[in-house]
Amino acid sequence: MSGVNSTRANALDATDPLAGFRDRFQLREGLIYLDGNSLGVMPKRAAERMVEAVTAEWAEGLITSWLGADWVNAPRRVGDKIAGLLGAEPGEVIAADSTSVNIFKALTAALSLNPGRGTILTETTNFPTDHYMMQGVAGFSGGTVRAKGVEPEALVDAIDDDVAVVLLTQVHYKSGLIRDMAAVTAQAQAKGALVVWDLSHSAGAIPVDLNGANADFAVGCGYKFLNGGPGAPAFLFAARRHHAAARPVLSGWFGHAAPFAFEEGYRAAPGIERFLCGTPPVLGLTALECGVAIMAEADMAQLREKSVALSELFIAEMDERCSDLGFVLISPRDPALRGSQVSYTHPEGYAIVQALKDRDVTGDFRAPDVLRFGLTPLYLRYRDVIDAVAAIHEVVTSGDWDKPEYRQRAAVT
Ligand SMILES: *Cc1c(COP(=O)(O)O)cnc(C)c1O
Repeated sequence: MSGVNSTRANALDATDPLAGFRDRFQLREGLIYLDGNSLGVMPKRAAERMVEAVTAEWAEGLITSWLGADWVNAPRRVGDKIAGLLGAEPGEVIAADSTSVNIFKALTAALSLNPGRGTILTETTNFPTDHYMMQGVAGFSGGTVRAKGVEPEALVDAIDDDVAVVLLTQVHYKSGLIRDMAAVTAQAQAKGALVVWDLSHSAGAIPVDLNGANADFAVGCGYKFLNGGPGAPAFLFAARRHHAAARPVLSGWFGHAAPFAFEEGYRAAPGIERFLCGTPPVLGLTALECGVAIMAEADMAQLREKSVALSELFIAEMDERCSDLGFVLISPRDPALRGSQVSYTHPEGYAIVQALKDRDVTGDFRAPDVLRFGLTPLYLRYRDVIDAVAAIHEVVTSGDWDKPEYRQRAAVT
């Protein structure tokens, strides 16, 4: 064990201004959970609220709860809270649907704002669902829209006068590389394109300033760093300047200007509500609201500072203990360019991640060979990082990873 880093970890824990947040989450004793970037830990408050929501609001209140428990405004209410985390104003974010569906909504809205252009551009290494949704829009367009992926370095140069919208993930899901949102947005807009930012690994993970970057649209997950629970509703941001002209393609009744007027013709709601489609998932929103509320209590500058310190410690400890074990760091070494995760490649990455689970260290694996460790400052201790790297060292040096059951690929990784 590295004495220096271990001593430093204890000292950092002792003076950690965010240490008090850990007790707000339900975390089994002994578990080192480095997967909050995939499914965040449950806030204790969420369990209480869910019981209340199903017993008092659903079972007792039944249909009166749409007004009595304010179910009807939940997408907007939770969206306003998320807006506060992202440098957006109240009324610019709505909590709804999945990230994939919101990508579809944002892309089609952007296309409607940029008539005469027909290309949706992204980088080849973007998260698969981003590609798939682009391909779906293109396929449905009857040839008027094209989905195009280019190498990350070539992205800005590839914005030509046919590119209507660029879809980019701010923090790369594998490497954790942070894209400069303000710079890329300005470059794209200068070339006449709009940008949709995927904030799945940004929201609740790094400071985000959507309006400071003059962003057009953004989407992101509720179940990752926002701790909203499995399958939590996602969110969609649309800059206020786009509300009136952005035409919803998923023009469901909850996005209508007067849903309960039951008019035959669709009229889009004037504000962010036009990006709603159908009846909101109230129970999912109830859980998500608890996660978002905790995040809103935390100081984002402190959160970022701890996130950087956790990842610096992780990398220092890996350098010291595991440098000759086949791991290659694929996250940026410069902390300014790194989100709240560290990722390595290793030829036996899959089996190592499985073996770590048996030692109560949860990370995740992304094909073909990436081990990802999410660092969530609200419930992780510096001590946990030291113990996690000790487990990685042990799993590899003992040969423990090399068992048939660890090589057996599961349906979900
Ligand atoms: C996790 C993730 C998603 C997930 O989309 P869902 O529709 O919520 O499953 C989308 N984009 C990125 C970049 C992600 O990391």
